[in-house]
Amino acid sequence: MQRILVSACLMGRRVRYDGGAKTSADALLAGWRAEGRLVVFCPEVAGGLPVPRPAAEIEGGAGGAAVLSGDARVLASDGSDVTAEFVAGARAALEAARSAGVRLAMLKEGSPSCGALAIHDGTFGGRRVPGQGVTTALLEAHGVRVFTEDQLPEAADHLRDLEA
Ligand code: SF4
Repeated sequence: MQRILVSACLMGRRVRYDGGAKTSADALLAGWRAEGRLVVFCPEVAGGLPVPRPAAEIEGGAGGAAVLSGDARVLASDGSDVTAEFVAGARAALEAARSAGVRLAMLKEGSPSCGALAIHDGTFGGRRVPGQGVTTALLEAHGVRVFTEDQLPEAADHLRDLEA
């Protein structure tokens, strides 16, 4: 059975920077959970960051690949540099995916770790730009296809293709 890496906050775990969750009530996700497919993971907590924690954004909205190549930092709203924790969390997510044979992930859109199509622009002004988070960039560079919580039907199609 093909397993699926999923953002812990989508599964109701209170691991977000503000101490909350972003629980998804989607029936597809519930079905995958019942089938025992889910590998529930929070990269930022795995990287050593506490809950709650200051919001963080990739400087310049540069995207996860730029962070992984050392060309951009991840900065918290208090000015601290949390790049090392974000990279450590991404590596831990990749390790969790590899050990479970994961080739498909369902991650929280907009996050500097988990975003797949959009991240914030680095100004803490609430503006989004196209781009990926650090964990998403690392997973996709290693062959794990990442979908957002708004793309569950597409993810289900991809799962069918993987298992065909
Ligand atoms: Fe959710 Fe990912 Fe942020 Fe953790 S790092 S709280 S799993 S969006």
